[in-house]
Amino acid sequence: MTSLSRRRFFGLAAAAWTLEQSQILRAMPSAESVFGKVKIRDVTTATIQMNYPAHLVKITTDQGPFGIGEAYHGPGILDNIADLKRHVIGQDPLQVDYLLTRMLEAASGHLGARSTAISGLETALWDLAGKILGVPVYVLLGGKFRDKLLVYHDTGAPRTADPKPWVEEALRSKDYGFRAMKFDLDWEGRGPGIAGKPYRYRREVWNRTITPEEMRQWVRILEEIIKALGPGIDIAVDCHWEYNTRDALRLAQAFEPLSLWFFEDPVPPENADALARLSAATRTPIATGENLDSRAQFRPFIEKQACDIIHPDPQRVGGLLETKRIADWADLYYLTMACHHMCTPVGAYAAAHVCAATRSFVALESDSIDLPWWKDLVVNDGGKFYPGGYLPLPVKPGFGIELNEEVCKRHLAPGAKWFGG
Ligand SMILES: [Mg+2]
Repeated sequence: MTSLSRRRFFGLAAAAWTLEQSQILRAMPSAESVFGKVKIRDVTTATIQMNYPAHLVKITTDQGPFGIGEAYHGPGILDNIADLKRHVIGQDPLQVDYLLTRMLEAASGHLGARSTAISGLETALWDLAGKILGVPVYVLLGGKFRDKLLVYHDTGAPRTADPKPWVEEALRSKDYGFRAMKFDLDWEGRGPGIAGKPYRYRREVWNRTITPEEMRQWVRILEEIIKALGPGIDIAVDCHWEYNTRDALRLAQAFEPLSLWFFEDPVPPENADALARLSAATRTPIATGENLDSRAQFRPFIEKQACDIIHPDPQRVGGLLETKRIADWADLYYLTMACHHMCTPVGAYAAAHVCAATRSFVALESDSIDLPWWKDLVVNDGGKFYPGGYLPLPVKPGFGIELNEEVCKRHLAPGAKWFGG
């Protein structure tokens, strides 16, 4: 390097450093002025009626900024949020982990709906913290590894053994732009869902078995889907905790020639040893985790390497920080993370920030894009929510989104109020 080019290089480097520092310094006075001075005033909810009730959580402050989060659906969530808010009101919203820990301590080891409610509050805290500090949430989680998130489409299940409707569903998903998709092949469902109706293909739904004919039927459907889609599209299958270990293993092995992306929840979700036995004996990658609450419940699945892909749901597992902790821990075993997701766009964007900030992330689920007004629950530019099968990472403060109040209010669940109004 000549002395001239060296001077030029260091000059440019200094300019870049100065620009970077000036951006940080611009944020600092604002941050310094609010540290410890903003207090949480209230926590309220608004439930949107989708195919299920989706619970939005709003945390307001005495200084004006507010945060919006979302909790996974299920019974008892609103009661738990109403009970938990006493642990955050009057507190500094920038103390996210401290407040998360307070709420978890108050749960006294009872998770389930409690964990889901805490997830809604925790995600709202991150949105609020980002808005107070003037930075996107991914910055607060350690920065980003990517600018857009691969999204996989959880397609509708045609509920037939005829491959044709399945292929049509796959092509519809491809036409939207998805490059990854998942199929619920256990479409005859579990006992309670269709009790009293005859099963056309299943011999029995309670004993966790699958017949050779059912296996052949599923392989046939997948072969037709893969042939119709052509190369370059990842295919996953979800069996919703349905089978005994041996039958699930036979099914996973029957899938091997298809090179599936992953096989999700082939056995019930609580036994890491059973899943580890299955995972070790098949080339088909195994995913699990949407039922698990907290790092503690993920521990045996990670330490026993019971799966290849961990599948936490940020709106249920304890929030964004818990999701990242689980994923970074699993990364020590070189397990990747796909995020389960059944939410409004608020939950999707909340998940996007932790997915961007997590090294081992591979894909985020899309469950509700087929609902015509779903993407309009937040202010958008009218384009595709997932252009090219990806979710662009917002860069504005907090989650970088704004609720479309008119659309949200039009789809409030029966009896639900608009954030306490
Ligand atoms: Mg699933």
